[in-house]
Amino acid sequence: MAANNEIGERIFRGIAVSPGVTQGKILVLDKGQEERPHRRILQEEEADSELRRFETALVETRRELRDIRETVNERLGARDAQIFDAHLLVLEDPMLIDQVTRMIREENVNAEFAFHEVTTQYTRALSEVKDDYLRERAADIQDVSERVLGHLAGRSHTIDLKHLEEPCIIIGHDLKPGHTAQLDRNKVLGFATDVGGKTSHTAIMAGSLRIPAVVGLRNACRELTTGAHALLDGLNGLIILNPTDQTLFEYGQLTRKQEDLQERLLEIKNSPAITLDGQRITLSSNVEQISDTAAVLDCGAEGVGLFRTEYLFLDRETAPTEEEQYLSYQKIATALAPQPVIFRTLDIGADKLAGAWSGTRETNPFLGWRAIRFCLQETAIFKAQLRAILRASTEANVKLLYPMISGVDELIEANKLLDECKNELRTEKLAFDEGIEVGIMIEIPSAVMIADSLAQRANFFSLGTNDLIQYTLAVDRLNERVAHMYDPAHPALIKLIQLTINAGKKHGIWTGVCGEMAGDPALVPLLLGLGVDELSVAPPMLPQIKHLIRHLKISEARELAESALCAEASVDVLVRARALVQRAAPGLFENQPTGL
Ligand code: PEP
Ligand code: MG
Repeated sequence: MAANNEIGERIFRGIAVSPGVTQGKILVLDKGQEERPHRRILQEEEADSELRRFETALVETRRELRDIRETVNERLGARDAQIFDAHLLVLEDPMLIDQVTRMIREENVNAEFAFHEVTTQYTRALSEVKDDYLRERAADIQDVSERVLGHLAGRSHTIDLKHLEEPCIIIGHDLKPGHTAQLDRNKVLGFATDVGGKTSHTAIMAGSLRIPAVVGLRNACRELTTGAHALLDGLNGLIILNPTDQTLFEYGQLTRKQEDLQERLLEIKNSPAITLDGQRITLSSNVEQISDTAAVLDCGAEGVGLFRTEYLFLDRETAPTEEEQYLSYQKIATALAPQPVIFRTLDIGADKLAGAWSGTRETNPFLGWRAIRFCLQETAIFKAQLRAILRASTEANVKLLYPMISGVDELIEANKLLDECKNELRTEKLAFDEGIEVGIMIEIPSAVMIADSLAQRANFFSLGTNDLIQYTLAVDRLNERVAHMYDPAHPALIKLIQLTINAGKKHGIWTGVCGEMAGDPALVPLLLGLGVDELSVAPPMLPQIKHLIRHLKISEARELAESALCAEASVDVLVRARALVQRAAPGLFENQPTGL
C-alpha cells in the first residue's frame, strides 16, 4: 500500500540507540494498545457473526491460558499455575459472558467495545472493595480482558519477523528483546519503536546486531503507514518520512564520512588500548549470542567482558539443558582462548522474560523477581547453568559474574551453590578450572555502599551502569517519558563509581564497566580518570573507543574526573568531557548531516 506519499518530508524525533543510516519501505507492526476499543454500530445482519467472533476469541484465549498453565505447572509447580485457573474461571463466568452477549445484541455494538465496557465495570467495582482477595480478582479480569481483546484484534497472528518477504524498516509500538534477537539482518534495514530508552535490552540487542535503530518515538506508530518511504538515522535518533533529495544528498555525504572513519579504525584492530602517556586499559566486548563470536574476533576485543547468558533462554518454552548450555559456552570459550570470557549468570526478569516465566506478571518487574533473586529460588535452573559454565572453563579463560547482587548474603548463598556444583563435578570426574574467578555486577546502590565487604569476597567488580543509573536516580531505563532524566553524568553516579573503584583497589581487585556508558565516547575519559581497569562494549563500538583511548592522556582524564567529583550538575561534567574528547579525537563527533 502506498501511503503518506502525497505529503512532504516529515521528521519524527526519538532516541538514537544503534548507529547507522538506512532508508526503505516501512512495515508497521502494530499501532500500540488502544486505550479504549473503538465503538462501532453493527448492521442488523452482523450481530450473529459478531457473536461468533466473540466466541472464537474466548475459545482461543482459553486454549492459550491452558497452554500457559501447563507450562508453568511443569516449570514452576502447581502453586504458580493456580493464577491461570483463576483466569480461566473469569473466562467461564456465565454472568460476564451473558452481559457481553446481550450488549452486542441489544445495543448493536462490536465485540471489543462490549467486552471492554463490561470488564471495566467489573474491575472498577472490584478495585474499590476492601477485601484483598477480591481486589486481586480485578487484576485477573484485567489480564484476561487484554488477552481476549488481543485475540479479537488478531494480535496472536503477528507478522513473522523471521521470514520477511522484502527488506524494510520495522516500526513497532514495542519490540521484546527476544524478538529483536531473531531479526533477519538481511531483511530488517532498521527498526524503530514508540517506547523504550537508550539502555532497554531491545536497544542493546540492536546495537550488537548492527541494525540501525531509534526508540522512544512516542506515537510514530500511529502516524506512519506500511509502504511509506522513510530514512532512519540511528546516529541522531530520527525517522524522516519522505526525505527530500537534499536530505538524501546530505545523508549520502555523512554515510561516506562514517565509512571512511570505520576503515581508518580497522588499522588499529590489533593495537592495544593504551593512552598517550602509557596507561593500559583492557577493552573487551559485550555479547548476547554465541553467533557474536566472529564479531568479537573481528573488532579487536580482548575477550568478552559480559556474556548475557539469558539470551539463550529467551523465546523458548523450556530452559536449555546443562548439556546444551555447556556446548554453547564451550564453543565461545574455546574460540576466544586464551582471551577471557566472562559469563554472567542468568539475568532473567524485568524486560527479559523467558517462556514459562513470562506468565508471572509483576507490578514492578525491574524491582522484582529478577537475576540472582530468581536463580536463588530456582536452584535447579541456576545449578544447571553453574555446572555448564564450570565445565566450559577447562581452558582456564572463563570467569563467572553474578548479576543484581544487593547484599553479602546473596553472594554467600550463590557461592554455596557454586561449591555444591564444584563438588558434584569432582565426584563425577568432570574437569573444570579450580581457580575460576568469580565477580560481582555492581548495579544496585546498596552494593556500592557495601563494596568494601563485597570486594573481600570477589575476584573482580563489573559496574552495570545501565541499572545503577536507573536504581540510583529512580528513572525507569525503558521509559521514554523520563529518558531525559536518565543521566550517566549525574554527580551522584560519578561518586558511586568512585566508591566502587576505591573499594576494589583497597582489596586488590579490578573494576570494569560493562554498561552502555563504557561505549559512550563522551564518558570514556571520565571513567578512565576515575580509575577503571576494563571497559566492555558492544563490538561495533569498540574500534572507536580504542581510537579515543589511544588519543587521550590519562593525566587529562584524571583532571576531568577530579573536577567531575566536585561538580554539582551533570551539564558541567558533560561540557568538560565533550571538550576533551573533541580535542583528542575530533572525528568521533562528526555524525550530523549539515542541514539538520
Ligand atoms: C547493566 O545493568 O549495566 C548491564 C550491563 O546489564 P543489563 O543491561 O543486562 O542489565
Ligand atoms: Mg544490569
